[in-house]
Amino acid sequence: MARYTGAVCRQCRREKQKLFLKGDRCYTEKCALERREFAPGQHGNARNKKLSEYGLQLREKQKARRYYGVLESQFRKYYEMAVNQKGVTGENLLAILESRLDNVVYRLGFAMSRPEARQLVTHAHFTVNGKKCNIPSFLVKPGQVIALKESSRSLDKFKASLEANASRAVPKWLDFDAANYAATVVSMPTREDIDLPIEEHLIVELYSK
Ligand code: SF4
Repeated sequence: MARYTGAVCRQCRREKQKLFLKGDRCYTEKCALERREFAPGQHGNARNKKLSEYGLQLREKQKARRYYGVLESQFRKYYEMAVNQKGVTGENLLAILESRLDNVVYRLGFAMSRPEARQLVTHAHFTVNGKKCNIPSFLVKPGQVIALKESSRSLDKFKASLEANASRAVPKWLDFDAANYAATVVSMPTREDIDLPIEEHLIVELYSK
């Protein structure tokens, strides 16, 4: 499945926001945004231009896409799904993004970043309802059980990540049983479960033009 393979920190600098794509490094002074808090490219350090309405909407969409590591075509499909669901389209869109399996793995603390979670899923470390699932874009549903597969539980990597992420709260839509490396999806995530600074109404305005 296609994914972004360019320079990662460049994306944060473009959005002028930490997207936490590099795990530990994001919390240190080595973070590229801490050192160069301006957009990448030849004119990145030029005086900030005021963004047009379209520009604001576009940046918000790009930011959301980059948080979750989703390419444009897939993001557009999620938007169409959100439109066809009951409720507020922007909130539906965020709930869909949040219920991706790679995001769930990140939220549970098995990975230091979403890109790392994506890689762990593709390497088939996780199961859904007891069956191997190596599709990062798999959308989890209430009642499903996401677990670290038996043979991966002794790996130091997972113990270290769970320890390092212990202070990061698991959202309440996931019931995490850390002792058994498994979580049950209690419900679909609501807007208040999603702590990302995204103004989803701007994305809806952009796509509904
Ligand atoms: Fe973004 Fe992390 Fe790179 Fe900082 S270190 S720019 S937060 S990906």
